[in-house]
Amino acid sequence: MTTMNDLLTVGHLIDNELTDSDRYDDVVDPGRLSDVAARVAVGTPDDVDRAVKAAHRAYLSWRNVDPAERARLMLAAADALAGSGSDLAAQLVREHGGMLWEAQTDFGLGTGVMQHTASLVDGFFDPVQFDDDESFISVERVPRGVVGAVVPWNMPVVLTMMKLAPALATGNTIVIKPSPFAPAALTVALYRMAQTLPAGVINVVHGNADVGQALTSHPLVRKIGFTGGTATAGRVMAAAAGTIKNLTLELGGNDPAIVLDDVDIDAALDRMLKGVFTRSGQICFAVKRIYIPRALYGTFADAFCERVNQYSVGHGLDESASFGPMNNKTQYDSVNALIEETKNSSAKIVQLGRKLDSASDGYYILPHVVRDVEHSAPVSSCEQFGPVIPLIAYDDENQVVEWANDSEYGLGSSVWTTDPDRGLAIARRIEAGSTFINTHAFESLDLRMPFGGVKQSGIGREFGEAGMREYVDEHSIRLLK
Ligand code: NAD
Repeated sequence: MTTMNDLLTVGHLIDNELTDSDRYDDVVDPGRLSDVAARVAVGTPDDVDRAVKAAHRAYLSWRNVDPAERARLMLAAADALAGSGSDLAAQLVREHGGMLWEAQTDFGLGTGVMQHTASLVDGFFDPVQFDDDESFISVERVPRGVVGAVVPWNMPVVLTMMKLAPALATGNTIVIKPSPFAPAALTVALYRMAQTLPAGVINVVHGNADVGQALTSHPLVRKIGFTGGTATAGRVMAAAAGTIKNLTLELGGNDPAIVLDDVDIDAALDRMLKGVFTRSGQICFAVKRIYIPRALYGTFADAFCERVNQYSVGHGLDESASFGPMNNKTQYDSVNALIEETKNSSAKIVQLGRKLDSASDGYYILPHVVRDVEHSAPVSSCEQFGPVIPLIAYDDENQVVEWANDSEYGLGSSVWTTDPDRGLAIARRIEAGSTFINTHAFESLDLRMPFGGVKQSGIGREFGEAGMREYVDEHSIRLLK
């Protein structure tokens, strides 16, 4: 890691050393396209091989470290991460385009995941044993080996920690491939964390899809932790298939929010809007379609638009902005294409809010609300991953549950009601990894709740003991007497 003319330049992290690369790419600030925020190494399959072999060497001793000692070392690594939040959050903003508070939240959540996972080590490895006249049986949890972690750009710190924490706690080592759209602040934080651990336990290789493919197909990698798009996940599964790797996949979503007819509209909007527009909608479990009882539709939609109209869009370091730009050109183009397609449909799409001066040179999109739109419209059924939200009228509860479940995705979801029993009854009918009642944003997450998706939103769970179980095998031993 070097800084030249204040430009952060990061190489790969292998065996606790930052290594040089033949090639570096610019990381451009999506909120100020004239600003290069960092330079990042572009790796090759050879770099992946070196990193995986370093991780494998480290694994041979890390797996034997007493779990309580691993937990103690993880807490030291968590301290290094917490400290990084104060000096790296602004750097992260210049890479991923989020607001400063969103980047700080990313570091805070990531630190919490490390600390919480370390606290669960006690007892996790206690074997389950049976001893009778015939036999002695011991079922023991063992680490899998080298983990390959592939992460996206939207919340890169916590999404990395959701793989790193359970991997470390259970005695695995790791090679992480960050997104080229948010690589540098994350790498500095991981470098600092790595220094608190034996060399080779945490490794990082930068690069594009070819590097991701090399990592997810490497024979010494036994486990993949992937967060990203569903189409990419298919390629990861195909790469992993050749050597039959275990996979945890956290993918896209099209989360429904179901408003019931007893809702307190003002109280609901206070919380719901955060779930729609935080990170400009670029969150896997953002609210992506809202269902409203037909009798309430006009009142709800008017109140919704009035509030959205207060938003301002600007650079993430502009304290007066409500939210920032799209992260990259592909994302910007696809959200704009969806807006144009919706304009040419029977739905009514309204652009609201205002752009600040700081939003003059980047991938900025004002918030758009889509009214009088059908459940079957493309804007209702795709993962928009941007500040465009359809409001859909429904006639009865059976219809809205059917519509909520009418998706290949099943990540998050929410029910909005003043009657907890009604909320719970509807929640239990929804096909999703998580259903929240009267909340649907960062604050909805609780580390005691396993996080993940059903259908094409993913395989497996992260957070807590459920997350740790994904990183161990069960070794069954039987002594026949
Ligand atoms: P992406 O799938 O394009 O990229 C994710 C990562 O995969 C990046 O590091 C990328 O470089 C790498 N990659 C790309 N091609 C690859 C290949 N062929 N083999 C291996 N790795 C490859 O996703 P993105 O644009 O970075 O993020 C947006 C998507 O991620 C959205 O669909 C979003 O819903 C999803 N997401 C899901 C969660 C979750 O927890 N479920 C969280 C955040 C984002």
